Amino acid sequence: MQRGLMWFRHDLRIHDNPALANLASSCDQLTCVFVIDPNWYRADHFQSKHLGAPREAFLWQSLTELHRALDAMGQKLIIRTGKPLEVVANLCMDHAFDLIGVTDHPGTRERHQVDMLVERFPQRVVVSDAHTLFTQHQLPFDLPDIPATFTQFRKAVEKRELMPRLPLPVPESLPAPITAIKSDPAPLSDRRIAPYQGGEIAGRAQLNHYLWDTHRIQRYKETRNGLDGWDFSSRLSAWLANGSLSVRWVAAELDRYERNVEKNESTYWLYFELLWREYFQWMLYHYGARFFAFKGIANKRPLTTFYAEAFMAWREGTTPFPIVNAAMRQLKQTGWLSNRSRQLVASCLIHELGVDWRYGAAYFEQQLIDFDVAANYGNWQYLAGVGADPRGSRRFNLDKQAAQYDPDGTFVKTWVGEHESSELK
Ligand SMILES: Cc1cc2nc3c(=O)[nH]c(=O)nc-3n(C[C@H](O)[C@H](O)[C@H](O)COP(=O)(O)OP(=O)(O)OC[C@H]3O[C@@H](n4cnc5c(N)ncnc54)[C@H](O)[C@@H]3O)c2cc1C
Repeated sequence: MQRGLMWFRHDLRIHDNPALANLASSCDQLTCVFVIDPNWYRADHFQSKHLGAPREAFLWQSLTELHRALDAMGQKLIIRTGKPLEVVANLCMDHAFDLIGVTDHPGTRERHQVDMLVERFPQRVVVSDAHTLFTQHQLPFDLPDIPATFTQFRKAVEKRELMPRLPLPVPESLPAPITAIKSDPAPLSDRRIAPYQGGEIAGRAQLNHYLWDTHRIQRYKETRNGLDGWDFSSRLSAWLANGSLSVRWVAAELDRYERNVEKNESTYWLYFELLWREYFQWMLYHYGARFFAFKGIANKRPLTTFYAEAFMAWREGTTPFPIVNAAMRQLKQTGWLSNRSRQLVASCLIHELGVDWRYGAAYFEQQLIDFDVAANYGNWQYLAGVGADPRGSRRFNLDKQAAQYDPDGTFVKTWVGEHESSELK
């Protein structure tokens, strides 16, 4: 009688989940667990928490959906609260699991968890890889030789015509649950964060919407610098970040779309952006803690410090820059920002207000519905001039950007209000 424990972390799905598929085929009994860490709620992290309200709600919906999907297969999702490693280790000791399934993730905490688990339960941990497009084995370089710039990375991958591994189907069946293991009462809020809806079904529906239903994908390259609205970019990031959508599934659907409907510069550009995501994941695997260091992976000291007032003005959207204020208020209210707005507000914090980039990155971590540790810290370092950027640092001319991307001021009026925006000028 083999007993398996599936520890869900950033892979909240039953499709393309090799760890789950592995346990499904090798165990007679299975427990599926997700652990809520009370540390996510402590504001000890550059004055921000790890988990803010928008992502908490999205996470709760994703877990509810995962539970429903498991339930339809005779399983259930056990939710526990506590230090994740301790919770999982205690479950293993109490219930003598033979196999523990987990999906690898480049986050330093996540990797430490797996390392500790392997140390405590040797031979029992099955670590699968499904958070990235490619496996480490497929990469055309050894990790320590990861290219210093995105362009070199992209060219290396494209030259070899690397194909993401095809996504796995949902397992045909799952082993029976261990009925004695129960959930703790979950402390998460179920606040609605429209128009987002967490979970695997909604994630796939969004992919279908962007590709097959509206064909917006065909104009992605022209529209992707939009500031507001739903359809100017794919909006897949939140589902990709918590793994309710597999990036390999997205790549496979994109490929199918290109074969069956249209292949153009825009369809390529979505893949190009997925490669940016990919690059930052592997950079984080390689650099570990240096991804979070003030001097970054470039080991260069930025000319910034910490000014409490400037940081507060930025957070609250009361800086002298209306476009930044509009974006920061949108972020506070909705948990989301377009890529262009993220670049502008980050440039403002670093280059206009002179604040240490890590405060901005930590606030994004708290606030973003799609927070992904590699994409977030990779992009912040890049803009602060301490990351993977041959040009040093990126300073945007905020007036010029506002004139180009918000020519009639609609974005500012929407989020700051007409009266207040003229007062701030
Ligand atoms: C300062 C800063 C912080 C950011 N923090 C995050 C974050 O925490 N989580 C996150 O997913 N993205 C982050 N991004 C990248 C990007 O802004 C978002 O992925 C994108 O805006 C999400 O919207 P979308 O899904 O419609 O993207 P689309 O434009 O449709 O792109 C498709 C997918 O490609 C990936 N992607 C796109 N642009 C980037 C990029 N520059 N870097 C890495 N991946 C990319 C995302 O997975 C995205 O869902 C950040 C960018 C900046 C400048």
